Amino acid sequence: MKKAEFKQPSALIISLIAFFAIASFGGYWTQSTNRSIVNQQQSLLSGVSRTQASVLERRLSSAFTSAQILAYEVEQNNGAGEWFPSYANKLIDSIGGIENLQLSPNGIISDIYPMEGNEAAIGLDILTTDRFKQEAMLSISNHRMFVIGPVALVQGGVAVISRAPIFLHKDTHRELFWGFASAVIYLDNLLETTQLKRLESEGYQYSLSRQHATSRKMIVLSSSLSPLTDIQASTDLILPVGTWSLKISKALDGQLKERSVTGYGFSLLVALLLSIALYAILVQPLKLRNLVKEKTAELEELAYKDPLTKLPNRRFLQDNLPKILSSNVKYRRISAFIYFDLDNFKRINDTIGHDVGDQVLMIVGERLNTLKNKSDLVARLGGDEFGIFLGNIHNEKEAEDYANRILQGIRAPAKLDNREYVLSTSLGIAMIPEHGQDLVTIMQNADMALYQAKLQGKNQFAFYTETMKISTHNLIKAEDDLTLALLRNEFEMYYQPQFDLRTNHVFGAEALIRWNHPEKGLIFPDSFIPLAESTGKIIELGYWIVESSIAYLAKRKQEGRVDLLLHINLASRQLSDPHFVEVVQRLLKEYDVPAHLIGFEITETSILEDIHLARGLLQTFKDMGICIAIDDFGTGYSSLSQLKNLPVNLLKIDRSFIMDLENDADDRKIVEAIIAMAHKLNIKVLAEGIETREQWKMLVSFQCDFGQGYYVSKAITVDEFNQAGPIVHNDI
Ligand SMILES: [Mg+2]
Repeated sequence: MKKAEFKQPSALIISLIAFFAIASFGGYWTQSTNRSIVNQQQSLLSGVSRTQASVLERRLSSAFTSAQILAYEVEQNNGAGEWFPSYANKLIDSIGGIENLQLSPNGIISDIYPMEGNEAAIGLDILTTDRFKQEAMLSISNHRMFVIGPVALVQGGVAVISRAPIFLHKDTHRELFWGFASAVIYLDNLLETTQLKRLESEGYQYSLSRQHATSRKMIVLSSSLSPLTDIQASTDLILPVGTWSLKISKALDGQLKERSVTGYGFSLLVALLLSIALYAILVQPLKLRNLVKEKTAELEELAYKDPLTKLPNRRFLQDNLPKILSSNVKYRRISAFIYFDLDNFKRINDTIGHDVGDQVLMIVGERLNTLKNKSDLVARLGGDEFGIFLGNIHNEKEAEDYANRILQGIRAPAKLDNREYVLSTSLGIAMIPEHGQDLVTIMQNADMALYQAKLQGKNQFAFYTETMKISTHNLIKAEDDLTLALLRNEFEMYYQPQFDLRTNHVFGAEALIRWNHPEKGLIFPDSFIPLAESTGKIIELGYWIVESSIAYLAKRKQEGRVDLLLHINLASRQLSDPHFVEVVQRLLKEYDVPAHLIGFEITETSILEDIHLARGLLQTFKDMGICIAIDDFGTGYSSLSQLKNLPVNLLKIDRSFIMDLENDADDRKIVEAIIAMAHKLNIKVLAEGIETREQWKMLVSFQCDFGQGYYVSKAITVDEFNQAGPIVHNDI
């Protein structure tokens, strides 16, 4: 599913759009409701104006009609006469709303009913008075009634006057303008019949107007004190004298303004709040994403980085290298994977402490990091194992050069707590793609190569080869077999007598292990000890050998046999076993065997592997009273001078020097020299592999102390050893 993701600017733009949309909608809504209020108001005003107009219309029509009726009466009577007052009285009574009726023969007002209060108007000439003249003349020519006003009457008050022209002998050739019949209506009285004044007090405005007959200008007859406002309704009054107009308005401006301000303000506020909320919602995923990113980086750092060396860890390699590998395959790049393992690192951890061990690892990490190129990757795989991926090389030679640089770089002494540590490493190299294309195969093969490098004597590198796979397979099988053999008790100790060359007495024996294999028969240690050393099984097997030997000594004591010195072979791996001393002490105590009845045979190559460690361990054993013998002396290129620094009791000259003693003068010289030198260092000498009496004799002549070999006895079983007779020489 694709996540909805907003960048901050997009969120801002969307929120702004939302703000304007909501504000616009709010504005539109305010305007449209205002419009609807105006419409409602207008429709209300229309109703009011129609009602008032109809009242006015009715009143004015009847009033104006009265002038016409009067005119008709004059026409019928051929002029004014005695009849006027009573007729006018009747007319006013029946029609109503008329202040007075007048007759104006030749335009001059002569009769007014009622006369009282109106006397001042008598004698006014309509046709010559400026206010009336124009319309009066038009009326005569049109034969139509006309209206004037509002007029301030000479007798007082404001009135509207309708005047109907009177013609005698109408519609004949003798037709003659006689004068005017007029009806006077007081505006105040007229308005009182309507509700306009009350409406004005309620906030309405009105205007009653008529058009001037000649100038066509609108003449306002009456209006409210306040002028009309924009919202107004107009109704026409259809009158005998023409069309009048009544306009009514009511001011809504204040109310509308207030509504608008509230509406627009509210819209803006809502728009602002909603857009802020929207912005907050939109940026939320962004914030969340940033937080997730941050946390992921933290977790990745935790998951992918080794906290001690700060190098990428195994998981990083597993997650990232496959991608690089597939791209290398695609672009046909050659690369290599180096499996790195510190020689004897476990010993530093076990004997000096994990703190120092950790510091050593940090130094190694730094050194590896400085050696790497840009396209290389150094990772700590766990413990003292490192993996180095050479991203882009051209051939095996470059990998070899790199491996040499690592060997050299690691060998530089590391100073920790005022102590110098000389480190060494073994490297296994797998070429990519030659030795594998996927990470698992590559790592497995580099590991196998590392294994071989260690087997070949450490402090070196080895390239993976196909044959390694087979030997590794054999090793795994061998380990299983050895475990089973221990469980089934298939091992047995044999003893080869060691004798004093001068006294012919057997003083001790070398304890040698044999494997009674159910299928293969008797197997000699040469065939399985190296395997046991390679697989680490030697530690367990070593304990078994020591215990069996000590148990045998205890049994001899029980059976009342003479004490003898039993030499037990130690493998190099046992020297670095931190529990070994403790186990030996415990066994001696358990079986109640004195320490001087056992001896340890250690090859010079084992000692040279870590001379510092060996010296300490051997000293401990020597202090306990255990005899320390250097086995196979002369084969390991160690110099005699090194011996003086080692706590050694006995030197066992390797059989290769003894076998040709009778024929090889050089060997004789060497053996003689070794014996002489050893004696100077207070070290006894035992010759291995004595097979003839001649060899024995020569060794005696060289002052050699002890011997061992087929001449006296091969390694034999416990029973055979127990039954062995004295040594017999057949010199004759
Ligand atoms: Mg030996």
